[in-house]
Amino acid sequence: MKYNEIYGRNSSKRPPDLSRCAKSVSDASGWGSGQCSRKAVCDPDENGKFTTCKQHSELAKKIREEKSDKAAREKDIKRRMMYFNLTGGTDLLKALEAIAAGDNDTRKTASDALEIFKAKNKIEDGE
Ligand SMILES: [Zn+2]
Repeated sequence: MKYNEIYGRNSSKRPPDLSRCAKSVSDASGWGSGQCSRKAVCDPDENGKFTTCKQHSELAKKIREEKSDKAAREKDIKRRMMYFNLTGGTDLLKALEAIAAGDNDTRKTASDALEIFKAKNKIEDGE
């Protein structure tokens, strides 16, 4: 991340503190902004100098994006399952994924997941 030349506005204008994270964040009042107060410990620049704190690092961003992708996917599955008046689709999906990834006890994984799915949806055996 690149440092701004100036952080903040009006009377709170400050040059960057290069030991701190380069991210511009809103201040406590919510009206102004300033440089992140956390120590720069991630994302080295071309000279090997750290530019971001852990919270604002590229890695943290990637992890957040992956999490929200996963959350969006699970929400989508839930929505589709609701259409058929079923719940527990993510449980089934997780079990299938475990099996596809080489689960050692596929029979148990599948039957456990089915049992939970049937119980949640009040499906009797033989239907
Ligand atoms: Zn930061």
